[in-house]
Amino acid sequence: MDPYQSASTPLVPPLMTAAVYRIADLDAVDALYEGKATGYIYARDAHPNARHLAGELSKLHSADWTCVTASGMAALSLAFVAYCSPGDRIVASDRLYGRTNKLLREEIPRLGVFVDFVDTNDLPAVAKALETPAKMLVAETISNPTMRVAPIRELAARCKATGTKLLVDNTFATPILCRPLELGADIAMESLTKQIGGHSDVTLGSISGKGDDGNRLASLMSTWGWSANPFDCWMTLRGLETLELRAKASSENAGQVAAWLAEQPGVLRVLHPSLPHHPDRAISVYLNEAFGHMLAFEVVNGRAGVNAFMRAAPGIPFCPSLGHTGTTCSHPCTTSHRFEPEASRAAQGITSGLIRLSVGIASVERIQAELAKGLTAANRLLPGNPPACSG
Ligand SMILES: *Cc1c(COP(=O)(O)O)cnc(C)c1O
Repeated sequence: MDPYQSASTPLVPPLMTAAVYRIADLDAVDALYEGKATGYIYARDAHPNARHLAGELSKLHSADWTCVTASGMAALSLAFVAYCSPGDRIVASDRLYGRTNKLLREEIPRLGVFVDFVDTNDLPAVAKALETPAKMLVAETISNPTMRVAPIRELAARCKATGTKLLVDNTFATPILCRPLELGADIAMESLTKQIGGHSDVTLGSISGKGDDGNRLASLMSTWGWSANPFDCWMTLRGLETLELRAKASSENAGQVAAWLAEQPGVLRVLHPSLPHHPDRAISVYLNEAFGHMLAFEVVNGRAGVNAFMRAAPGIPFCPSLGHTGTTCSHPCTTSHRFEPEASRAAQGITSGLIRLSVGIASVERIQAELAKGLTAANRLLPGNPPACSG
């Protein structure tokens, strides 16, 4: 179906900012509500730019339906509200994005839904956690910021056996590297704000799935008010045009940068699934030899080392997001995982010297030259800062 409903189709999508649509008469509005005619009534329910974007994401994810939401967090909220009621239980990975953790620890329990955390790379532990009935299991394809890779096929098999829905946050991988639904997951979630939008100028999210839940979820999205605005959908459709090129180029760059970083003096450790010592190297095969644009590395001298790195490498802006065309860095300890309990941060190895890098598509030589400036500055400091987050 042409979401723009015109006799001829523009090559590039028009931006449709209308919040509401004119309808000819009562018979026409009945036909719309009864699904006998296609069209739009009110933009919170549906609008052409969101419908177009949802269709493209469904194709990428081999999904039957996609809901495009106002943010990645709105997409997660929608999924939890759609599938859980008071008394139900969610089992979640103990290595999730900080804000997802906050949602699961502080908000979802207020709705009467119980949440337990488990290491989703420890399959016996997952099996044990699912012995108590759970409505949903939540994991990230590549975890933030520790870059562990989820065994999606094995988790899906466990979930099938216990009637649990597997939700996979695929933000770090994008559907170019991984299509969780094809591996057996029930719901694939994306923060479109990141590499899919790709230019750090939209805030959007999506969930995709198979089966006939699409209409129910679209209705819930409108009722809770989590709908996406037309402009961001329109911008994200443009981002999609180059997603495959960007995802492959940045992933290739990240692999080279990770190998290079591992040999630099003063780099204490490097986390990227392409590295031979990575604990999930074997299950990473489903990523098709592209291990993602995200990596993390630890500099010497803790927080002071990170400050020195940032000040000496202005070509790698410090901005707590990811998926931009250019290379950017973040500091999980003070940004994405700021609200994480100290013990959980320590268990995950999120130290004060850990820098997360979102590798861009510029030539790898340019990225390395800028990193070298930062590393030299970090190494020049006197050692002695403790590795604790507050250090
Ligand atoms: C950013 C992010 C989210 C949240 O998405 P927003 O669009 O910022 O709401 C969820 N999961 C992961 C892994 C993210 O990086």
